[in-house]
Amino acid sequence: MTKQHRPWGYHGPAGEAKVDWELHPDTLAVRAGLARSGFNETGEAMYLTSGFTYNSADEAAASFSGDTDHFVYSRFNNPTVAMFENRLAALEGAEAAVATASGMAAMFASVASVVAKGDRVVASFAMFSSCYVVLSEILPRWGVEVEFVHGNELADWEAALSKPTKVVFVETPSNPMLEIIDLKMVSTLAHNAGAILIVDNIMASPVLQKPLELGADVVVYSTTKHLDGQGRTLGGAILGSKEYVSEYLEQFVRHTGPAMSPFTAWTVLKSLETLSMRVNRMNDSAFTIAKFLAEHKLIKQLRYPFLTNHPGHQVALAQMSGGGTTIGIELAVAEPAVFKFLNSLQVIDISNNLGDSKSLITHPASSTHRRVGEEIRAKMGISNSLVRLSVGLEHPADLIQDLEQALAKI
Ligand SMILES: *Cc1c(COP(=O)(O)O)cnc(C)c1O
Repeated sequence: MTKQHRPWGYHGPAGEAKVDWELHPDTLAVRAGLARSGFNETGEAMYLTSGFTYNSADEAAASFSGDTDHFVYSRFNNPTVAMFENRLAALEGAEAAVATASGMAAMFASVASVVAKGDRVVASFAMFSSCYVVLSEILPRWGVEVEFVHGNELADWEAALSKPTKVVFVETPSNPMLEIIDLKMVSTLAHNAGAILIVDNIMASPVLQKPLELGADVVVYSTTKHLDGQGRTLGGAILGSKEYVSEYLEQFVRHTGPAMSPFTAWTVLKSLETLSMRVNRMNDSAFTIAKFLAEHKLIKQLRYPFLTNHPGHQVALAQMSGGGTTIGIELAVAEPAVFKFLNSLQVIDISNNLGDSKSLITHPASSTHRRVGEEIRAKMGISNSLVRLSVGLEHPADLIQDLEQALAKI
């Protein structure tokens, strides 16, 4: 059927384009992974099929034993999903990628495929609340020991990683406090403890941060965020070495079934073509808006990694190419006035998503981080006066005007 047909179990190599030089990421974003059918279509095809047929029973048998590169079943892989995986792997500089049905399916599979009863996981505290539930409630029920540390405290990491550990899991920048964790430092300590380092890179996207280049072994995405970036589909992806995929992930996802749908894969595949344009523009606008808000008298504290008052500023400059598309805004007023501010916005929508072309704002304590409870929120630094702004593709002047008029109403 196609020249670049991929079997279910084979997800690389990064970058399919056959040229004599190393292509830039912007070129890979529109070219990598492309597998044309016999019709030679320009746009990538969407293969809405659950299964595949064989010319003979012998071909079927060979396909199931992995001796041919024939697709066998869309729970294992699908041509459109494979195009997405190969393109994302090329952008990330990873040997292999596995797409999943949501960011949480990716996060869960990335850790659960590696650990067994009695194994130790060490994770940073500041993280997305569903990831926290997986690590603090679900995996411990299965006999996995999980220890949390403060992600920017070297002494905490050293103590936690003085014992043999199987997985280290971190989110940087963290959602919603934008805490920055030094990935080079943590990867060295993790490897010395025998652990693999898994990084939730959702907030930065591959445009602003490349964890594999900083020593991480595995990168996890929610494609729901910047990768789709237009609020349409839910999805996820796990990237790492071929060895990680074949040793841990492949059997796990094949049999537990968190497969991404071909429709989602097609949507996100096409979205990757504009990813760097979108993220860079949103990042520039976020920086502009962060500088405006930092001066406002109703803001108690502004959290943005590329502002000098951010505790992780130096590390952020060293490992990120931009401060990101979200801003943590700690208002100088208490909850009724915080809600009044949100309710007064005329352009920016109240929504818990992020990385979208539409600017979205949320109150984490009552939405995304409601589930973890007050005590854990306090440890994560999430107060009731904190709102998280995800800056979209609107003109930054309109966003500033919207924030200004809403702040004037409280
Ligand atoms: C959204 C998000 C997730 C979960 O992704 P879903 O696609 O919603 O399942 C995990 N981690 C972080 C940091 C997120 O922002």
